[in-house]
Amino acid sequence: MMSDLDQLYQDLILDHYKRPRNSGCLPHADRRAEGHNPLCGDHVTVFLKVRDNVVEEVTFQGSGCAISTASASMMTEILKGRTLEEAKRIFEKFHALVTGSAAEQDAGADLGKLEVFSSICRYPVRVKCATLAWHTFKAAAERQAAPVSTE
Ligand code: ZN
Repeated sequence: MMSDLDQLYQDLILDHYKRPRNSGCLPHADRRAEGHNPLCGDHVTVFLKVRDNVVEEVTFQGSGCAISTASASMMTEILKGRTLEEAKRIFEKFHALVTGSAAEQDAGADLGKLEVFSSICRYPVRVKCATLAWHTFKAAAERQAAPVSTE
């Protein structure tokens, strides 16, 4: 049933909101970036340690709504241990998922738990919450100096 699935998704988002994974600053990070979503008031800083093009460690710190926090938490779980190229591809898929631009049968492919965000595309304001940490990760990976804003 769709409602059961929605409930499952909600539970997973709340779980990551209440107990975010990989949260906190990373003292030996070699890259970091800040992101801000003025529409909702979400702030996030993403810390990265990259070695041989692989994301060895990724953490985040900030304050935001349940969606932005849960998305950041799940992002760190899925991106840890990936190459920067893989991380970029996963972000592209995730972005397509939450903006509703992926073909329905492809949506969620290889995204695992991130599929919980598939219904976000119906709420454009929430898309910015869900993608903030990802844009910030990308900025950190590419060593962008300017803070990220979703506006
Ligand atoms: Zn938000």
